[in-house]
Amino acid sequence: MATQSTTATPRSSSRRLPGQMRCFVMKRIGEVGMMEKPLPECGPNDAIIRTTAALICTSDTHTVKGAVGERFDHTLGHEAAGVIQKLGSAVTGFKEGQRVVVNAITPCYHCMNCQRGYTSQCGGMLGGWKFANVKDGNMAEYFHVNNAQANLAPIPDELTDEQAAYCCDMLSTGFMAAEYANIPIGGTVAVFAQGPIGLMATVGARLLGASQIIGVESMPHRQKLALRYGADHIVDFSKEDPVEAIMNLTHGEGVDAAIEALGSDLTFQQCIRCTRPGGVISNVGYHGDGDFIHIPRMDWGVGMSDKTIRTGLCPGGSERMSRLMRLIQTGRVDPLPMTTHRFSFDEIEKAFHLMDNKKDGIIKPLITFA
Ligand SMILES: [Zn+2]
Ligand SMILES: [Zn+2]
Repeated sequence: MATQSTTATPRSSSRRLPGQMRCFVMKRIGEVGMMEKPLPECGPNDAIIRTTAALICTSDTHTVKGAVGERFDHTLGHEAAGVIQKLGSAVTGFKEGQRVVVNAITPCYHCMNCQRGYTSQCGGMLGGWKFANVKDGNMAEYFHVNNAQANLAPIPDELTDEQAAYCCDMLSTGFMAAEYANIPIGGTVAVFAQGPIGLMATVGARLLGASQIIGVESMPHRQKLALRYGADHIVDFSKEDPVEAIMNLTHGEGVDAAIEALGSDLTFQQCIRCTRPGGVISNVGYHGDGDFIHIPRMDWGVGMSDKTIRTGLCPGGSERMSRLMRLIQTGRVDPLPMTTHRFSFDEIEKAFHLMDNKKDGIIKPLITFA
């Protein structure tokens, strides 16, 4: 397979001032656009990456709608691959010019939560998520990586930057959904929503040995992709009650694990309803509305059902990224069918709006940097 961008030479930037780069930003809640910013500084533990490929995420559209509060001229993006432009003096084992990918989550690996093993909660709840949250993201010509030693992952020669970029969030989060679901070999799984995360949860469930995977989805192109990625049945919630359908498909027993990959109160309740006693509800959906998520009391065995609710945020780090890339390398998963649209960085605003309104059968738009 062809590799991309193996050189560290900065591309010509005749239209920009020296030391400036173009960034795709959230100007304020509800408004996006392009702007120039100074190149990021590289501290001893950092790295500066020249971006080559980036994927827009639905959570970028949530951010612009105010999911993390007001931000001004805030660079978006957290799924990108590139080439090391500058390496901090304390970072070893990498070299400038090397192709790397960086997970959406960039923990410090030093703080108390990191030491406890919850690196995505680095420094506080959800604090491992730094790109486009507490610092500028990577939908820019260059981006800054904190704690680069643990967060840079070299891209194998056999993989393209596009393939690697899928590991930043889609593979890491989708597979985590399946890992946290504690699927027994031969177990049954329902995956609610077959967007890119749900699709990768479907692949994850299959890799972990599920014998029956039920994808809940109403959009025909996503249903088709779910079947291709290993779903055994599709339940169209717009045509039938998904809980009833799942109970029928499992001979009235319910599934061993239900994965919530949408982020709706109703779907979360359906996950609890269709999970058998002792099963796991693995939530990766972003619940952006309301003050509470409801638990159906009787289906929860009035609090004594042995059902576990597990939550998590995209695991990061070099080691996991390398493992995920090996799965692509060895053909266990092919993320590329999820790239439904391709745009140059100049066209990113168009791509963003398409991702926001989910039109034209979009699953993931790839942004390439010339
Ligand atoms: Zn993402
Ligand atoms: Zn930390």
